[in-house]
Amino acid sequence: MKIDASKFSVDNKFRLICICCAVTHLTFLIEFASLSYFLLAGFNVLSVTLYICCAAACDKGTVSEHADNWINAIYSEIVVHAFLCTLFLGVDVGFYVYYLLTIPIAAYCLFFYGSREKFRKQIVLFTSASVILLIISVVFDNIFGPFYELMNIHTLNATGTIIMKTVNIFFAMVCLCAFTLMFCAEISGLIRELGKKNDELEYIAEHDALTGLYNRHALWGYFDELMKKEESFCVIMGDIDDFKKINDTYGHDCGDIVLKNVAKVFLDEVREEDIAVRWGGEEILMILIGTRNDCLARTEKIRSHINKLGLVYDEENINVSMTFGLANYTELKINSGAQSSTYMDMLISVADKRLYEGKNSGKNKVVV
Ligand code: GH3
Ligand code: MG
Ligand code: MG
Repeated sequence: MKIDASKFSVDNKFRLICICCAVTHLTFLIEFASLSYFLLAGFNVLSVTLYICCAAACDKGTVSEHADNWINAIYSEIVVHAFLCTLFLGVDVGFYVYYLLTIPIAAYCLFFYGSREKFRKQIVLFTSASVILLIISVVFDNIFGPFYELMNIHTLNATGTIIMKTVNIFFAMVCLCAFTLMFCAEISGLIRELGKKNDELEYIAEHDALTGLYNRHALWGYFDELMKKEESFCVIMGDIDDFKKINDTYGHDCGDIVLKNVAKVFLDEVREEDIAVRWGGEEILMILIGTRNDCLARTEKIRSHINKLGLVYDEENINVSMTFGLANYTELKINSGAQSSTYMDMLISVADKRLYEGKNSGKNKVVV
């Protein structure tokens, strides 16, 4: 089963964690009270209150706003609780595991929910505090023994110690596993999101926003790849006829609609292996893979579709036509040592020249 981290909101996750912690501390509270460890039971009253308050803040949806404060409060509660229990009951009861547990859990919470600026400082602070408290607890236990023993209050017998140690280690392991799973789910969610954002950025970097056609930037990469393949292809430069008149007569918005509809014809007609690029304002450059005759036939088809678009704007029929100049790669394959950009420049200049021949001889045609 795949766990999708994005399905759980920050508040839901925190609420779940708080409820688990509140229940755990309530168990400690009952246990310590029944054993007459009133100081520890008293601390657990504070702990349960803290987790109930945090769960209530989750209900109000305010936890993420003050995530740093909540993380600090919960971290402090865990280590102080571990410190008091270790100091009063001895290291053997196993509360020291919580010092270690807090390090990965604090790192997880700070990384995903805390402020990025404070992350390093906080994690260094938490790790140092946990390690220092662990050392102090072990040293005190070795020098003085459990404080309850010093105060002549009974401590746990051997069986009680083993049971509590086992429960603590088991609980710490369960927490560690749960947080590891959550961490993996969050990371895979982030990686997926990053991949999606990268795809979006890649699309934006290579496409024209108005028409959805490729932009000039995408053309160079495409052309370099094409030159390695030794395929027959044509470069075709197209320019909408009297576009300025359309803009002037019906407005710029109408011009944009015409551009989008013309672009759609290209998008529908070009194949996976071809490319259609918005070269300038209303100029579209195409590279079609195929022989001169194939490319000519396909360009003719595009020209004819555009001429039959039948656009209506403000109840007025808009006549749209486009003129094309076609340059065939094989025609120019003379100087084999030339760079691909040189070929491209030559092909574009031939296609451009033919386009203007078409413009000067009546428009709405393909010149080869
Ligand atoms: P010809 O038949 O000789 O190509 O004449 P033309 O009027 O199409 O050519 P010209 O280059 O004089 O006009 C192009 C116009 O395209 C000028 C510019 O305002 C307009 N244009 C460029 N980009 C856009 C755009 O994104 N949207 C709109 N609506 N107009 C644009
Ligand atoms: Mg034009
Ligand atoms: Mg033009």
